[in-house]
Amino acid sequence: MTQRVAFIGLGRMGHGMAGRYVEAGFDVTLWNRSRAKAEDLIARGARWASSPADAAIDADAVVTMVADDEASCVVWLGKDGASATMKAGALAIECSTVSHAHALNLARELRGRGLITIDCPVTGLPDAAAAGRLTLLVGAEPADLEKARPFLAPLSTTIRHFGAVGAGTVYKLINNLMGAIQIAGIAEGLAIAEQAGLDMKLVLEAIETGVAASPQVIRHSRRMVARDFAGATFTSALRHKDAAYAVALAESLLSSEPILGRAAVAAYDRAKAHAPDGDEGQMIEIVSKPKGAET
Ligand code: NAP
Repeated sequence: MTQRVAFIGLGRMGHGMAGRYVEAGFDVTLWNRSRAKAEDLIARGARWASSPADAAIDADAVVTMVADDEASCVVWLGKDGASATMKAGALAIECSTVSHAHALNLARELRGRGLITIDCPVTGLPDAAAAGRLTLLVGAEPADLEKARPFLAPLSTTIRHFGAVGAGTVYKLINNLMGAIQIAGIAEGLAIAEQAGLDMKLVLEAIETGVAASPQVIRHSRRMVARDFAGATFTSALRHKDAAYAVALAESLLSSEPILGRAAVAAYDRAKAHAPDGDEGQMIEIVSKPKGAET
């Protein structure tokens, strides 16, 4: 029998992920806050629902990919949230990057309503989402993950199971905090080199072959030096959100202050104020101004 998936949240990531279920032959129902993003998927065979609750009726699995805790609360637990209509024993798969506290609260609520729940944030950019090449960072009971596998398969074959519910989110938050620190560091380093008058082609060559490089450092260095932010993939607002969630988690677990995490949040406060929906690397535009220039 064809399996039914309700997919909720059709932003840069969710649109491609929903398309994977359509391509794989699932019976797909969609909801997004703004309908326009669903039109091409509807043309490909998905059905539009009037609310998350409407989308979730009779679904075997509900998969969500929305911005943050607030959006996740709305689509799962709101008056017209998916959990209002999900059948007992259905799968609730939260792929959004949310705070650890929210991931745990949500799981508790959903379990209380008789649902199987896993957290499954992802790494990979929108092109990987559309191609089924994400890395899935799962927190789930082992038996629940086995039930979820057929619904994860269209998204990726790379599943990293970190432990019980919430564990996938812990890894996602540390991954993105380390990224935030790196990207803020690259912006400052490159800005210093620019203002000191170095040949930036040479600087890039040295970075790419030097010990400070990571795939992320190399990608962002190139984009920052070229000021080429075409095809914004991950926005400053989202990076700021992830860093802030990670710092809150650090504060709940560590006796020492998360100094670098807080610095990254402060850097992304400014980047978000500058261009919230711009590419996260656009923070170079703020930090590269020469001393004495207006901020
Ligand atoms: P996006 O393009 O900004 O899309 C955000 C989605 O959330 C949209 O569907 C939006 O609806 C919805 N939304 C926001 N606020 C809402 C609310 N209050 N109620 C209901 N829906 C709401 O973001 P994205 O890049 O797809 O990211 C989605 C999630 O994936 C985020 O948690 C992000 O951190 C994570 N992520 C992103 C990337 C990446 O490279 N972009 C990679 C890995 C993980 P509208 O369309 O109506 O605005």
